[in-house]
Amino acid sequence: MGREEKLLELVERGINTVKDLSRELGVSVMTVYRTINRLEERGIVYKKQGKVFLKDEPKTCRVCGKTLDGRNDFIIRRGKRSITACCPHCGLILLMEEGEASLILAKDFITGKPVNGVSAFYVVGSKATPCCAPSAIVFENKEDAYRFYRGFGGRLCTFKEAMDCLKESLKVNKVVWTSLK
Ligand SMILES: [Zn+2]
Ligand SMILES: [Zn+2]
Repeated sequence: MGREEKLLELVERGINTVKDLSRELGVSVMTVYRTINRLEERGIVYKKQGKVFLKDEPKTCRVCGKTLDGRNDFIIRRGKRSITACCPHCGLILLMEEGEASLILAKDFITGKPVNGVSAFYVVGSKATPCCAPSAIVFENKEDAYRFYRGFGGRLCTFKEAMDCLKESLKVNKVVWTSLK
């Protein structure tokens, strides 16, 4: 679990002063401030009278900060919390950073229906970039994914392969991981 995720859980439990957070997380006050500022920039928390509060529904992508328009949503559920990324590209990056999820919901590119992100097929790095680049596009069935891949290139992947493939292309393209800045 990343530091941001831990901090959010503490805040959810009502531990929301910088001093308490720094003690609970075992990091310096400065680090807590930096973490909070990052979360605030992305619209996930806000500060009031020296305390941190969660915003009800983050309307921006946790990774790139784009406004969520619901078209390419990639939802990661962990217990009761759910995190929404603007698209599978950002969703997979979130999963790389934060690890396990109890449920992953992606949207089928053809039908727009929510599909299980783990059993879906992905075309990574094609010429089509509906949201973030390199794009990762989700299909419920392999045939659709294959047809798309034939037309737009990239790589046809399973969920696990898509993660590795994206990791690889991020390295190759030296794309800055906005979430790690
Ligand atoms: Zn994003
Ligand atoms: Zn995106």
